[in-house]
Amino acid sequence: MIRASIIVHGGAGKYSEDLRIPREQGAKVAALEAWRILVNGGSAVDAVETAVAVLEDDPVFNAGRGAVLNADCQVELDASIMDGRTLRAGAVGAVKHLRNPVRLARRIMEQGRHVLLVGAGAERFAAAVGIPTCSSEELITERQLQRWWQERRADLEAMGTVGAAAFDQQGHVAAATSTGGMAQKHPGRVGDSALVGCGTYAEDGRGAVSCTGHGEPIIRVTLARATVDRLEAGLDPMRAAQEAIADLARKVKGEGGLILVDGQGRIGCAHNTPAMTAATVDAATGIPRLLP
Ligand code: ASP
Repeated sequence: MIRASIIVHGGAGKYSEDLRIPREQGAKVAALEAWRILVNGGSAVDAVETAVAVLEDDPVFNAGRGAVLNADCQVELDASIMDGRTLRAGAVGAVKHLRNPVRLARRIMEQGRHVLLVGAGAERFAAAVGIPTCSSEELITERQLQRWWQERRADLEAMGTVGAAAFDQQGHVAAATSTGGMAQKHPGRVGDSALVGCGTYAEDGRGAVSCTGHGEPIIRVTLARATVDRLEAGLDPMRAAQEAIADLARKVKGEGGLILVDGQGRIGCAHNTPAMTAATVDAATGIPRLLP
């Protein structure tokens, strides 16, 4: 049997019922795409980048095209990726003209000079390394526009962020996360999904985590890194996930969820929101399945 694993999420929050099946389908497709890479001996970094890019391209998720809109009715995207083998990381914040922010995060990681680039500077870097930019309008869907008009005075709401964590056949781990952030957020707000240690963390031998939920509390407890710290204590990965989410609620009243692979490739996930879409691929059969 192949010794590799993949877990992906399509965000924690509360969803309208009409999106449940498309989200579940989308998560399974992304998990399967990543699994194919792992089965063919590809790296955990390639697997998580691909899974997240597939989810960014799917407009039912709050990432890439289909992302939520900020208070100015604009898209501002955050993403990050981390390679557990080298502890290298790349991230982008508040970008407005990229279909796949995770691919830019990967290029920033590979270039190695910086970890996080934001806004217009990040987009200049994209142009310099040949990553195509697009108009903001291409990223805005009818659904999100309608929602913006309905919810102008509503509270910030999280939903539909995407992420992945993988363990490859060489024993390396990686994680990546991508989001449009919280609906109605202040322009310029950057959330946990762009911050290494908060929304994303990966370290070989210990584990890899991608988080989702209300970003500000997640940042305050550096949730991804705090979860990997629990894995080192040898805890069962499902239990580690549950305890990390319990801590988020207890310490900062946070609402969210996370997925993880531990240093041996075992998966875990937990959330304290009404729902979180998550999928994995069964290593014995190669068939994707949803997680509770
Ligand atoms: N964590 C994301 C943020 O605060 C939102 C989410 O996961 O839904 O930007």
